[in-house]
Amino acid sequence: MPTESTFLLAGLFLLLAAAGWAMGRFGDRDEEDAPLPLNVDYLKGLNFLLNEQTDQALEHFLAMVRVDDKTIETHFALGSLFRRRGEVDRAIRIHQNIIARPDLASEQRDQALFSLAKDYLHAGLLDRAEKLFVRLSQGSRYQVQALESLCRIYEQEKEWQKAIEAGQQLEIIGGRSIALQIAHYYCELAEAAIRQKDFNAARHHVKKAQAGRPRTMRGALTRAHIARETDDHKTAIRLYHRIMDEHTYLISEALPEIVAAHERDGSLDSLDASLRAMVESDPDMRTLVAYTAIVNGITGIPVIDECVQRYMLEESTLSEFVDLNRLTKGASDGQSEALQKVRGALSKLASATPRYQCQECGFSSQRLLWQCPSCRNWETQRPASRVQFDTVLQHSITKR
Ligand SMILES: [Zn+2]
Repeated sequence: MPTESTFLLAGLFLLLAAAGWAMGRFGDRDEEDAPLPLNVDYLKGLNFLLNEQTDQALEHFLAMVRVDDKTIETHFALGSLFRRRGEVDRAIRIHQNIIARPDLASEQRDQALFSLAKDYLHAGLLDRAEKLFVRLSQGSRYQVQALESLCRIYEQEKEWQKAIEAGQQLEIIGGRSIALQIAHYYCELAEAAIRQKDFNAARHHVKKAQAGRPRTMRGALTRAHIARETDDHKTAIRLYHRIMDEHTYLISEALPEIVAAHERDGSLDSLDASLRAMVESDPDMRTLVAYTAIVNGITGIPVIDECVQRYMLEESTLSEFVDLNRLTKGASDGQSEALQKVRGALSKLASATPRYQCQECGFSSQRLLWQCPSCRNWETQRPASRVQFDTVLQHSITKR
């Protein structure tokens, strides 16, 4: 059964036929050169398409129609149609066929190269796509799109230095700031340097990242990681505290680190005091502290345990399952044990559901992802502040 795309392809064939007929009829050719309207060749090609014999139709089309000024747009349309249908090999054939034309105008050559680069990108042939985009980025009307595509390719290949260079060129040519994106490229370099224990390089990259505006919140976190890895606990603690004070949502990343750092330092009392001051000045932070503690299994710090208990008591979905109010008022020794059990169950639920969600497209994940894999935006994920009971319930219903 012919698909919608087949009819589109067939439509293109007919358009081409009509154009050929019109040129023959009204063009300045000699009368005897005029082609017959809708000649046998066109009908043959059309027949291939309607019978879903796309390969034969393509070969027939390429052999039949010379690329010239009259037919070039049809070639482009056919190529992009094949790509959209996912038939990239055919799109590549069409675009290579255009490029092979010796007297092609430079603008049309750029258009064909750009289309071919998109075909390669679609086919996952990143090296080939990169070569063409680099060529187009050095002076063509596709400069901006080529640089944007190069950034995407380098992101996929984790070639961060090249991504920085393409990004900086894009800022100059495109006339808009992508400072946040470039700052993340520097942070990627810094994190790679940390993994290789090259802390001087890591510090250098973070400095570059933090020079851009708007500042990425990731820069501060990476600086704190460098301090942690170089056993500079004092600086690490100071930086993690600053992250919690300045960038409230990153508490989900900073709190487990800060607890570990204070534990190593033997200064959990001072952590308790500073956290207490924080939640008293901003009561909304209680929920985030509680959720982060539940997910990461942080216990034994009075203010955190209080936040967790309050969270459990106020969680309306949870109260439908367990009467925690009664449980906490009971005088039995089993009371705290029962609360611990509920807390443990919550922790399991929380670790089975996504913890971060992209504010742009809704993509969710367990781990904080600085670049959303779905919409490719940077720093758009935010942590959940509650256990996602809806998701858990949905999971258990669909599993049945
Ligand atoms: Zn997204």
